[in-house]
Amino acid sequence: MSYTKYMREANLVGGDWIAADSGKTIDVTNPATGDVIGTVPNSGRAETERAIAAAEAAFEGLASMPLLERVGLLHKLHDALMDNQATLAELLTVEQGKPLFEAKGEIAIGAAYVRWFAEEVRRAKGEIVPAPGKNRQIMVTKHPIGVVGMITPWNFPSSMLARKVGPALAAGCTVVAKPATATPYSGLAWGALCEEVGFPSGSVNILTGSAREIGGAIMDSPVVRKLTFTGSTEVGKELIRQSADTVKKVSMELGGNAPFLVFDDADVDAAVQGAIVSKYRNAGQTCVCANRMYVQAGVYDQFVGKLKAATAAMKVGDGLEDGVEQGPMIDMESLEKVEELLGDATSKGAQVVLGGGRHPKGLTFFEPTIVTGATQDMRVSKEEIFGPLAPVFKFEDEDEAIAWANDTDFGLCSYAYTRDIGRIMKLNEKLQYGMIGINSGLITTVEAPFGGVKESGLGKEGGSQGLEDYLDTKYTAVDF
Ligand code: NAP
Repeated sequence: MSYTKYMREANLVGGDWIAADSGKTIDVTNPATGDVIGTVPNSGRAETERAIAAAEAAFEGLASMPLLERVGLLHKLHDALMDNQATLAELLTVEQGKPLFEAKGEIAIGAAYVRWFAEEVRRAKGEIVPAPGKNRQIMVTKHPIGVVGMITPWNFPSSMLARKVGPALAAGCTVVAKPATATPYSGLAWGALCEEVGFPSGSVNILTGSAREIGGAIMDSPVVRKLTFTGSTEVGKELIRQSADTVKKVSMELGGNAPFLVFDDADVDAAVQGAIVSKYRNAGQTCVCANRMYVQAGVYDQFVGKLKAATAAMKVGDGLEDGVEQGPMIDMESLEKVEELLGDATSKGAQVVLGGGRHPKGLTFFEPTIVTGATQDMRVSKEEIFGPLAPVFKFEDEDEAIAWANDTDFGLCSYAYTRDIGRIMKLNEKLQYGMIGINSGLITTVEAPFGGVKESGLGKEGGSQGLEDYLDTKYTAVDF
């Protein structure tokens, strides 16, 4: 089946698929070939204001829809995603570049989020709290927050919307979403699918175009009661500032700088396997990618040798080709940032043991790269790399490793390989991260709250917390 089935070259506003008012469009490129695969509208403030009005008009209907009816629509949405997994995954790979097996996994986890929130909303209970005196009832109830604005990045163009659209619709909130300009089609597909399964017109509105204009209209609107954003810390901070004027609730899933600790007592083969998944998934462009590998002196050489062998075996190429494990990077700017960080590391003494340059395939393909002898004065220790570069640091003792791991403004995800239960408990206490993977390099799952601390964000996605973020809590005192 062709990937074009859900490829919409228009914006969804109030149930209509529209062009930009100006008629202007933006080209969308396949990073693996450099080919333009289509265009999307270059919408701005006016189209966004109409989308917000449509979402406002649809809110009452969705919020008061019988719960089981809404839950039923969400189950249909889950099924539609899975029935079309192959075509949606192909669309994702063509616009984003990740290997097809990863894209299929992304569609599947997106569908799983939708099903999770369909289940979870049936238990969005309030409470009756004992009153301090006689003849009073204290009721605490949950209510959908209202119209929700959503802004998402290019690295998981489908599942980042799943974690927002799923709980919003489950709670009864309507949506105005802006997917990333580099990868708009996977976002627009959510509109097509929601429409197909029967969500009322205006429940989900999706716009492509100027980030400043669409984002500005969302942030300025008093109708939009919540903004949920996934993207860089820099843009997230700006949006937090902009949220002040209308006192919006904000959820922020921002950048990461994950440490990956390997202790002397680790199962080194398992650690290497975890490192490969965590480092090179999506060509190193995930917010939870291992950014820094801290390896204890006793297993350092063994770990580096095995990591080198496993990394060298990875096939680089167009994500649609069989067996490809690493696709292109999203654009030249991202590739140049990796080169800059690599240059900084080598100028301060790091040694390249594998890769180290642009891949012979050209475009934005970059070789899977490992450097050893990394140190805390290098930029890779502080900055998000967002590319297929693995810097390996050597540490001597546990406290040193923990201190280095925490020495960053970020606090999204961290990993550690060890078999010592006492150390695992200490890591749980001491690592300043919203998520910790012990003996695993892949921990995202719908049942658990995903999110960071420090400058990695506010709020959680997934778990029961992921629904709470879309609900207001109301207290009503009833005297009788
Ligand atoms: P980005 O540059 O911050 O862009 C994210 C989204 O924000 C895009 O839709 C972008 O639109 C939009 N945007 C940019 N400037 C804006 C503005 N002034 N006002 C409103 N919207 C604006 O991030 P990215 O490069 O796409 O994504 C990579 C970053 O996302 C990394 O830092 C990564 O760690 C983070 N991330 C975090 C998580 C998490 O769960 N914590 C998950 C995935 C990614 P345009 O595309 O039109 O520029």
